[in-house]
Amino acid sequence: MRIVLLGAPGAGKGTIAKLLSDFDGSVQISTGDILRNAVKAKTKLGLEAQGYMERGELVPDRLIMDIMEARLQEPDCAKGYLLDGFPRTIPQAEELKKLLTKLNMKLDAVINIDVPKEVILDRLTTRRTCSNPDCQEIYNIKSKPPSPDGKCLKCGSPAVQRADETVEAITKRLETYNEKTAPLIDFYAKEGLLKTIASLSSDEIVSQIKEAVK
Ligand code: ADP
Ligand code: ZN
Repeated sequence: MRIVLLGAPGAGKGTIAKLLSDFDGSVQISTGDILRNAVKAKTKLGLEAQGYMERGELVPDRLIMDIMEARLQEPDCAKGYLLDGFPRTIPQAEELKKLLTKLNMKLDAVINIDVPKEVILDRLTTRRTCSNPDCQEIYNIKSKPPSPDGKCLKCGSPAVQRADETVEAITKRLETYNEKTAPLIDFYAKEGLLKTIASLSSDEIVSQIKEAVK
């Protein structure tokens, strides 16, 4: 399947993408993960992106489009892809539309995961992420804790709070979402691709997505 996952930070896009990827082999493409890996590796992209990310701001559209133009042409995308965290702005959505036409690809759907703000705040402050770049398993200290000494249950690396998961950065990310990304809901409704799912259960969301792309 080829889908875009829309939703505020903490809506569960990454978790849903992993479940769908296990289901049909579609590849999860997370611009956040790509950028965090570039920051860690101190590549040119990483050095450019780091400041924006730590402040909870968006990285410039041009950098993101360069990443995605290359990424969507990699062979693993032939099986389908789940875009997690991209597009994030109207210009990115417009560029994506052109890019898909050029690559002769069509999206099956754009899924808007609609979660109440209180739930989002609670999830983001309790979230922990495996620090191993090849794993990046997501934990939650309340609902899905890592080991008692804070290690990833899959690979044993420390599960840590991301640099952009301080209260200030979280507040900023939510503002950025409302201002820059929420308008994509209308954009994709007009394109006839939008499906909004208001559920807090990953299993429920996944089964509704499977139904929507059948
Ligand atoms: P979130 O949990 O906020 O959805 P992500 O892991 O998707 O986090 O992204 C983390 C950060 O990476 C964002 O706050 C932003 O700085 C940057 N980023 C990720 N994807 C994009 C994008 N498509 N456009 C611009 N910036 C992005
Ligand atoms: Zn791990």
